[in-house]
Amino acid sequence: MHPLYTRLTPLTWAAPPETWSYTTLRKVKQCPLAWQLGRSSFGDDGAPLPERPAEATVTGKLVHDVLDALSRGLVAAGLPARGTPGFAAVVREVNPSARLAAGLVRSAARVAAHPRGYGVRLYATAPELYARVASLLQQHYPRLIAQHAGAPPDAAPPRQAPSAEPTGALDLLGLLHHQHVLSEIEVRHPTFALRGILDSVYRSAEGTVIADYKTGNPYDDHVHQLLLYALLWYRTTGDVPAAGEIVYYSHTRRITWTRDDLDELDADLELELPAYAALLAHPPATARPGEHCGRCQTRAWCPVYWEELARCPPEARLERGDLEIVAVQLRDEEVIVGADPDGCAIVVVFGADAGRRPAELVGAERVRILGGRWSEDGESFAVGARAEVFGAAPR
Ligand code: SF4
Repeated sequence: MHPLYTRLTPLTWAAPPETWSYTTLRKVKQCPLAWQLGRSSFGDDGAPLPERPAEATVTGKLVHDVLDALSRGLVAAGLPARGTPGFAAVVREVNPSARLAAGLVRSAARVAAHPRGYGVRLYATAPELYARVASLLQQHYPRLIAQHAGAPPDAAPPRQAPSAEPTGALDLLGLLHHQHVLSEIEVRHPTFALRGILDSVYRSAEGTVIADYKTGNPYDDHVHQLLLYALLWYRTTGDVPAAGEIVYYSHTRRITWTRDDLDELDADLELELPAYAALLAHPPATARPGEHCGRCQTRAWCPVYWEELARCPPEARLERGDLEIVAVQLRDEEVIVGADPDGCAIVVVFGADAGRRPAELVGAERVRILGGRWSEDGESFAVGARAEVFGAAPR
């Protein structure tokens, strides 16, 4: 069993990041402790805590990859109109159905081998994912044609492999002027340790446009992300992008900014990044509880989460599928009994499909369970395949 299930504190705490990305910044702002726990190691190998796989993330990546293959194939074929033999030939070549079916099989195998993959199932089918690809392509293709209008026929395929080295300002602007569109390019701030990978940058009549493609639901965070990407482009090239586009399945959100907006963000980050790094330099970092805690990947190891849960009124506690108990005793092969934060005895019943067995937990100082289910009377708690159980009997 992976040591993450047997330790309630990391073996090695993570240091502040050497380079900040938008995701790192967002996570640290929301809760420094959650970011730090998520990068800390629970085993001797020093590997960071793995996130529990989620079907939406796995299938979103499959859809994104197939859409990317189709886009690049269509660009290479000269962007044939939909319904033409040229378009059909690219679709045949990419073969989305077979790719998605194979991707689902590979993903299911990866989930099965994942340290936190027990009980996670992929229910999506290849035809369902193909329908999402088709819908996204329908929305994306006119944009792709517009982006490439005026591009030379010998322009390289749109993807630039992310590089370990920052791309120079002149290189990027020169490339953009030559190709009209760049995809998946890495840009690094010239003075801060801040980087981003831009999905797409293209030239339009009004100037440079930065586009970001999303396979999930719209969130306001996406606007902040694009603003940060605009700043990275501006500070790397000196060119203020005219606009940004966030492309969802259903619509495109367009946003604009001014040079002053980007300068203000730059000044804020110059202060914020060292302050966040200082917060992370002395583990454990500060916890910032809030509504996000219910979805937090690291709540099993967060003492503040369990203290807050213990302070909830009993009816609110019952709505959660999370439980902490102490003084754990074995009642029979499938059942343990422990005390909740109020000292009340709680019976925990393990299903035959649960990932752990009660005997592994007897005498544990405390046991934390995520994703279980309370009985209607609130006196017992059921643990099934989808639950994660943390804690270990003393050696
Ligand atoms: S449970 Fe909440 S407070 Fe604790 S680490 Fe996660 S986000 Fe932070």
